[in-house]
Amino acid sequence: MTSESKAKIAIAGGGLLGRLLAWRLCQYDVNITLFEAGKLSVPQGACWTAAGMISPLSELVHSEKQVYTQGLQSLDLWSDWSRKLELQGGRAVGFRRAGSVLVAHGKDRSELLQFLRELQGKLGESAREQVQVLDTKALRDLEPALHSFEQGLYLRGEADINNHRLLPLLLDVLRLQGVQLRELTRVNCEPWCISFPGGEEHFDCVIDCRGLGAKDQIKGLRGVRGEVMVVESREVVLQRPVRLLHPRYKLYAVPRSDGRTVIGATEIESEDLSPISVRSSMELSSALYSLNPAFAEARIVETRVNCRPATMNNNPYIHNEEGLIRVNGLYRHGYLLAPAVVQQVENQVAQQRLLVF
Ligand SMILES: Cc1cc2nc3c(=O)[nH]c(=O)nc-3n(C[C@H](O)[C@H](O)[C@H](O)COP(=O)(O)OP(=O)(O)OC[C@H]3O[C@@H](n4cnc5c(N)ncnc54)[C@H](O)[C@@H]3O)c2cc1C
Repeated sequence: MTSESKAKIAIAGGGLLGRLLAWRLCQYDVNITLFEAGKLSVPQGACWTAAGMISPLSELVHSEKQVYTQGLQSLDLWSDWSRKLELQGGRAVGFRRAGSVLVAHGKDRSELLQFLRELQGKLGESAREQVQVLDTKALRDLEPALHSFEQGLYLRGEADINNHRLLPLLLDVLRLQGVQLRELTRVNCEPWCISFPGGEEHFDCVIDCRGLGAKDQIKGLRGVRGEVMVVESREVVLQRPVRLLHPRYKLYAVPRSDGRTVIGATEIESEDLSPISVRSSMELSSALYSLNPAFAEARIVETRVNCRPATMNNNPYIHNEEGLIRVNGLYRHGYLLAPAVVQQVENQVAQQRLLVF
């Protein structure tokens, strides 16, 4: 095919889905244009705020089984795709498959039991193979910083990815692969057509990955507020994501390789994007302190707030018609589900007979 006869594909939204999909479609002989409302080097979407946990088991307790199944698929895809991305981009994406640990304070120990029961209810006996009950010694061996806890659960297969490495790396690779990048361009998506203030352009297929930016086109799409703090500590080093189970709030702490830890807990049914509240920051800080009192001296280096794009049933949304695919609603599962969802969309673009190697 000559470059004039190649299929032209537009992707709207340069967040997690948009970047990953653009990268996957680069393997075919197509022209790709990625439109982003903000600056691509300073991601505005939920993808930048996220903690990057890839935790099918932890999420299963509050979600449908589809999230777990697609999460497992994504885990395998991340292993493969992150290696390919690292080769193409020449640096690490920070994908770590070291499992995650759940703990609860003595008086809340029933939370761990309840978690295990719910998993068994959904997965049957296979839950036992995927979850290891840790006694005090096993917990200390695995996570020495959690020495004040007597018991925990180890979710072996879980992983996390450093989104602050992944997203810039994806951008560099897209540049290298010749994707046309149109930032600071807020667009609307219709079949075969991308429109923006002052003009429109036509494509063989438009893929709408605008997250909450697609609210007017997707009935029931809503934002669910989340808040995170980033702390830096020289004294406490966690080896993997840790979740603290508590009857009222559930803290997660995701350590990065640079001594920083991303912590969060909150999920608020609101599209408010104002800064983190005093209450949330106190609750997050005190939960963190209760993991290990040496966190008291950690420095709060950043706070972030954003809204997760969610559908009415909190499941991913893919709409496919001639000339237009809309993909959205990754909710709190963007990193958990993106590869599986992107692969589904890739197949749908192929069905429109636009993709040739
Ligand atoms: C606090 C918090 C913590 C999270 N933690 C996790 C986690 O640990 N694990 C996990 O799996 N998920 C997590 N998530 C969820 C995850 O971040 C989202 O599911 C994911 O980012 C959704 O990806 P997306 O590409 O659909 O949307 P986004 O990442 O929001 O990207 C949408 C992009 O579209 C652009 N855009 C919007 N409108 C337009 C327009 N009109 N024209 C052009 N561009 C437009 C935006 O600027 C943005 O760049 C978290 C989210 C939050 C808020």
